[in-house]
Amino acid sequence: MRSHAQIVVIGGGVVGCSVLYHLTKRGLTDVVLLERDVLTSGSTWHAAGGFHTLNGDPNVAKLQEYTINLYREIEEISGQATGVHLSGGVMLVATRERFDWLKMAHARNRYLGVATELISVKEAKRHFPLLDDKQFIGAMWHPLEGHLDPSGTTQAYAKAARSKGAEIIQKCRVVDTKQRGDGGWDVVTEQGTIRAEHVVNAGGLWARETGRFAGVELPVLCMAHQYLITEEMPEVVQFNQETGKEIVHCIDFDGELYMRQERSGMLVGTYEPNGVPWSPKSAPWDFSSELLPPELDKISDNLERAFKHHPPLAKAGIKNVIHGPFSFAPDGNPLVGPIRGLKNYWVACGVMAGFSQGGGVGLALANWIADGDPGFDIWAMDVARYGSWATMAYTNQKVRENYGRRFRITFPNEELPAARPLRTSPLYERFKSMGACFGVSYGLEQALWFAPKGKKAVEKVTFRRSNAFPHVGDECRTVRTSCGSFEISGYAKYEVTGSEAESWLSATLANRMPEKGRLVLTPMLNRAGRLIGDFTVAKADDERFYIFGSGAAESYHMRYWEGLLPRDGSVQVRPLTSELTGLSIAGPHSRALLQSLTDEDMSNGAMPFMSFREMELGLVPVKIGRLTFTGDLGYEIWCRSDFLLTLHDMLSRAGEPFGLKSFGGRALMSLRLEKNWGTWAREYRPIYGPLEAGLSRFVDLRKNDFIGRDAALREKHEGGKLRLTSFVAETRDVDVIGDEPVYHAGKVVGWVTSGGYAHFAQKSVALGYVPKEIAEEDQGFEIEIIGKRYKAHPQREPLFDPRGERMRG
Ligand SMILES: Cc1cc2nc3c(=O)[nH]c(=O)nc-3n(C[C@H](O)[C@H](O)[C@H](O)COP(=O)(O)OP(=O)(O)OC[C@H]3O[C@@H](n4cnc5c(N)ncnc54)[C@H](O)[C@@H]3O)c2cc1C
Repeated sequence: MRSHAQIVVIGGGVVGCSVLYHLTKRGLTDVVLLERDVLTSGSTWHAAGGFHTLNGDPNVAKLQEYTINLYREIEEISGQATGVHLSGGVMLVATRERFDWLKMAHARNRYLGVATELISVKEAKRHFPLLDDKQFIGAMWHPLEGHLDPSGTTQAYAKAARSKGAEIIQKCRVVDTKQRGDGGWDVVTEQGTIRAEHVVNAGGLWARETGRFAGVELPVLCMAHQYLITEEMPEVVQFNQETGKEIVHCIDFDGELYMRQERSGMLVGTYEPNGVPWSPKSAPWDFSSELLPPELDKISDNLERAFKHHPPLAKAGIKNVIHGPFSFAPDGNPLVGPIRGLKNYWVACGVMAGFSQGGGVGLALANWIADGDPGFDIWAMDVARYGSWATMAYTNQKVRENYGRRFRITFPNEELPAARPLRTSPLYERFKSMGACFGVSYGLEQALWFAPKGKKAVEKVTFRRSNAFPHVGDECRTVRTSCGSFEISGYAKYEVTGSEAESWLSATLANRMPEKGRLVLTPMLNRAGRLIGDFTVAKADDERFYIFGSGAAESYHMRYWEGLLPRDGSVQVRPLTSELTGLSIAGPHSRALLQSLTDEDMSNGAMPFMSFREMELGLVPVKIGRLTFTGDLGYEIWCRSDFLLTLHDMLSRAGEPFGLKSFGGRALMSLRLEKNWGTWAREYRPIYGPLEAGLSRFVDLRKNDFIGRDAALREKHEGGKLRLTSFVAETRDVDVIGDEPVYHAGKVVGWVTSGGYAHFAQKSVALGYVPKEIAEEDQGFEIEIIGKRYKAHPQREPLFDPRGERMRG
């Protein structure tokens, strides 16, 4: 066996083979794939082979489209048939909510360029004759659906990779991976050791066990899943004869079923609500190309529904039951990318839909290894969306929840219950007793809104305005007319120290660093000049800075910074996760409230907008920044977590005469809309440049060189392609959620990134990207919300405090 390779890929399932192929496609040919047994012997061989582009995240949906379009390419290069049948498919719905969901999925496909069509149940029956039309109210035709041969497809990737120089070694289990002093890896196998620069863990069913060799506990879990294949069905034979066509792929959401023709019968698969994990702690290494014994009683309720929704199935004999494991991440999306803290260790695992997603995963990972960046927006699959808080028990509960909800709707205001509470701030119990309704982000419970006395803190799930609407409105009005307090412990915060801290920050972030005692807002750009962060930076001292950013991106940003830190120890970055907590106070009375707690001068002259101070507030040592995301006069007050309850006590007592009330995350999101302010992961993502996102005033092209400067300069000269635009939508009882298409002159021209009801301004607001050529137009825009188009008017200046007098005053 060879002793060296630039890159070793562990695992010869569809994902590992796709990674291998894409590495060779990027010109990285000193690559070897190690397979424990034979190719496909994990979960790949027994897959049903179905594919589609459906995904909650449009960027992942795009990658699924890429995957499907790749099959012809690998067939041509390899000469190996993939058995791909791009038959198209129908998606059936039985409830109004699900129909609304379908309308939104269809609308989103308009800007993704996928030509789905909403069709009647009668039309759906023309493609899928087994359905009972009384059971459904609507359907969607999806042209990019179909099925393929899982083994043939994996072999096609493998052969195509081999033809470009890759090597595949089978019957070669990796038993250890050891990081070497030079940052490379010793990949220890049953046949000897390979020295590699990079390791990719594509271990599928054994990704977690393989990760443990390197000391990583990946948040993945395998679930046992079943589908069955019927005997020949006369209805199928008759349909084939009469139409000359096969019965297409079908997803019956309310039946929780997927189906397609298999020979002259049907393949019927289902996700039962109480799915059972396979080998929850450790997967056995001697499991290979095996199935689990059939357990039809586990899915009997779902099968009953299948027989009711599609009566000919009830009469069909069962020829075969396929019961096998496959792996999931807690949210059902793949885990892709480099592992924080482990140089050159990559993962491509937790891929639950390898035939829809495997190509995109391979492409992203190969780009990332080759260029240091995946090349597009893969936030929804980035392994860094989880931190060390994603324990094995958390993963177990979330994966089971997700599995059981595979075909269920998750409403935009829905907070799923499994594995909660996990992380809580010291204020959690207090907020609970105050009537908080909680959501969760990065594992942390955060108050979304507060129910008034006598009302239950339970939000009814909906695509429209919920029962929380009036309460959130009250919270917004309190902020704008007197004073509100909001817990900011969930923001990410980092301490940056060292003799070179300032120069390092200035080379890493796009804006000029602040003077001592001041704050700046700054984007962070990648080398291509795209947005990979959006922060507030405070200078506390010559060699001590604080960065505040999005809580959900803590691991993502730490991983990036750790890769940039100088080796001489002259700069340290430390995440302050639960160590630093805080409360923000905002509204016209907030200064008077703050002043009532200290002798220090809090006047505008002494503590102007964007200043930062470390001081004592009553009993509590605090750091105070003069800004808030509400866009109002306000402060962010940070303290160590052991002081937080005291800080809250103090503010609550002193705040009474000023009308202080607590507000939650929903009100904050509404208030920032009145300022046209975007937020990380919605408006600011790695597919947009700072000019496009309206952040160019925070990019200082005259300071020292910084990452992304050249690209930002180019964007400035060339003008970029898009513009983030704020709209007021002419709606009465509904608001955008995000991902709706924006029309201009009747054509889809862009998409909504976020929005909602701006309670104080009493307007329905949407933020979204449109081509720069039409961004200045005032007329002709519409936004489609749940299947209906509404007029939308560009809002050139903020609805609240357009000149920033309140914020600065
Ligand atoms: C019943 C069923 C039906 C399914 N239907 C579909 C479907 O219709 N469409 C769809 O897209 N997906 C479907 N799937 C899911 C699909 O099977 C997976 O998404 C896919 O197989 C994941 O591929 P993978 O390469 O990540 O993992 P695997 O196929 O498990 O491959 C991992 C490989 O790594 C090897 N390996 C692991 N550890 C080591 C090590 N230490 N050393 C060397 N080799 C190692 C293993 O032997 C294995 O071959 C289904 C799954 C099941 C169970």
